[in-house]
Amino acid sequence: MVATRLSLACVLALCSVFASAREYRYSDAHLHYVDFFQESAGMNALLEAMAKNRIEHVMISGVPVAKKWHEDEPKRPRYYAGDDADAYWYSATDVIVAAAVSKLPADKRPYFHPFLSGFNPNDKNSDAHIQRMLDLNPGLWQGIGEVFTRHDDLTALTSGDTPRANNEAMTRIYHLAAENDLPVLLHSNITSKREKNPLYLAEIEQPLRNHPHTRFIWAHAGTSLEIHRHQVQMDFLLPTLTRLLESYPNLYVDLSWSVLRPYLLDKAGKPRPQWLALVERFPERFMLGSDVVGRFNKLGEEMHSFDPFLDALPEAVARKVARDNFLAILPRKR
Ligand SMILES: [Zn+2]
Repeated sequence: MVATRLSLACVLALCSVFASAREYRYSDAHLHYVDFFQESAGMNALLEAMAKNRIEHVMISGVPVAKKWHEDEPKRPRYYAGDDADAYWYSATDVIVAAAVSKLPADKRPYFHPFLSGFNPNDKNSDAHIQRMLDLNPGLWQGIGEVFTRHDDLTALTSGDTPRANNEAMTRIYHLAAENDLPVLLHSNITSKREKNPLYLAEIEQPLRNHPHTRFIWAHAGTSLEIHRHQVQMDFLLPTLTRLLESYPNLYVDLSWSVLRPYLLDKAGKPRPQWLALVERFPERFMLGSDVVGRFNKLGEEMHSFDPFLDALPEAVARKVARDNFLAILPRKR
């Protein structure tokens, strides 16, 4: 009994040695400062969560749509999917982000990387709007996005037509992004909820091919929780992603939550060897994101949830994925 207890204690001690062997420092490549109602827990809460969890750098963006509390809805919705009311394109989201970032103390400012997102991706005037916003605050914005195009239920709830990542309005924005050396974080689902084939792949692949000088971060690698609800796992995701990474050096991949599970980790929480091999083969092309919206109490948990996958990678690759790859795609003259 004593021996068992002792050996258990040894195992636990050993486990904690291994668990703490690598203390990662993170960049969060996908963070929303506000939620779908444009509300935020605020900068102090974000700073505290970053400091507590070794999250050194964050991409900070608003949310490009606001969910309406519709005249006919008796109760204020708590999420965009809470009722039938629509969401609409909301440019003031960038004003909120700009104000929060500009109030940061000077020593904190270099760790915040604001991305501009508040425009309608179906409007061919949007590139002119983005240019005006860039001119209004020279040097502030370090990227564009998250741009919502195919986004399952949210797409259906947003006023107006569904944006495609390969439409004319976005084409103009990719040119502007290249001219200004800004990366673009793009949410473009690879398929619909029910189609078991890459139904919308062309919408992301065409811009990758046509805009070799624009750096694209593909949010969640085209996956979503809603797709998983209907299809569990997409067999075509890994081969498709492999082919895209081989073909387009301007493609970067955000591994946030709907990629982590079920793809990076299996049901038991073990890293899947094929995904480890893919990340090892393209060590500079993957980054992590929390995708939190306006609340930061789960920020640390979200970032640490990648640790089992990172721990199974060679240490140098893991550190790139955890922190450096995101910093490497930011504007060079920063
Ligand atoms: Zn997001």
